[in-house]
Amino acid sequence: MAKVFFTKDLEKLDRLIDKSELMKAIGKGDEVALKIHFGEPGNKAFVKPQYARIVADKVKRAKGRPFLTDSNVLYHGQRDYTVKHLMVAHNHGFTVEATGAPVIIADGIHSRDYVKVEIDKKHFKEVYIGSAGYYADSMIAITHFKGHEVTGFGGAIKNIGMGLGSRAGKQQMHADVKPEVNEKKCTNCNVCVDNCPVNAISPSKDAIHRVSINLDKCIGCAECIVMCRFDAIAIQWSEATDLIQEKIAEYALGAAKNKADKIAYINFLTDISPNCDCYPFNDKPIAPNIGILASFDAVAIDQASYDLVNKVEGRIDGPDKFRTLYPTVDSTIQLKHAEEIGLGSREYELVSL
Ligand code: SF4
Ligand code: SF4
Repeated sequence: MAKVFFTKDLEKLDRLIDKSELMKAIGKGDEVALKIHFGEPGNKAFVKPQYARIVADKVKRAKGRPFLTDSNVLYHGQRDYTVKHLMVAHNHGFTVEATGAPVIIADGIHSRDYVKVEIDKKHFKEVYIGSAGYYADSMIAITHFKGHEVTGFGGAIKNIGMGLGSRAGKQQMHADVKPEVNEKKCTNCNVCVDNCPVNAISPSKDAIHRVSINLDKCIGCAECIVMCRFDAIAIQWSEATDLIQEKIAEYALGAAKNKADKIAYINFLTDISPNCDCYPFNDKPIAPNIGILASFDAVAIDQASYDLVNKVEGRIDGPDKFRTLYPTVDSTIQLKHAEEIGLGSREYELVSL
């Protein structure tokens, strides 16, 4: 059974790392990827640089050479190509001075720098992993655990799966998200038209018709769904989210494949927002700050995070807060598939500091 270490006290990250012996993942002279999300400008819930600093200092004491990394995103935004992405990281405080570690964007300047990793699973024979993540000798995934409109929640599995997939890989994972416009709800405000990264949405030609989506062009990024304030864009959610969750789990397996016991995970259960950190805003947290978890098992740490969020009293009710938020999404699919393909175990022992 996998051990998951837990502290309620955000000041005890240092002790949590010692107690969980996470630095056993680091060998002398290792190049160590600290996989983190730098946060879209306007978003405030991402894991802050001072915590990255604590992890980077620990890695250095273990004689490793840490760098912070993430890969470019698929949709329009400030992190969709490397130079802008680096500026976002810098502007959010992820400077060498603050963290003690440089930033390297995992999939290179044009997002074409990736490694094909063979996994031979249900959806993919091979996955495309950002090379800085793949070629690092060891990795610590530093994850902000929160809600997510497509996968229910986003945790460690999503951080290394979607997060280290190159843009081509992200496109593969999103391929089943096919939006459609509800003509009764649409007001022709054109917000979705302006925010579609691939111009797949055409404005209405007259007041009678509504905006239309060209599914041949659509890359399934789901941006239009979040941007529409009239709830007028829907997806065949159950099928799409089941598939995307399984695909993310397979990408996570690919990202961890050459690391064996050289990869470890830290989940922050803080500012648990309903949406991911890719949006330029945050809604109110769905639960109070819970603490920090650490483990060598990506599935166990996400299962424990999910369980802890569902146990506390928060703004959202129900035995599964993520299901209350997104009624058509079963967020446990990612856990089940990740366990089935051998990424880790849903059974865990929670060790509190
Ligand atoms: S954002 Fe929503 S309401 Fe506005 S045009 Fe698009 S689908 Fe219609
Ligand atoms: S139509 Fe929607 S889901 Fe498709 S690419 Fe455009 S914004 Fe993304």
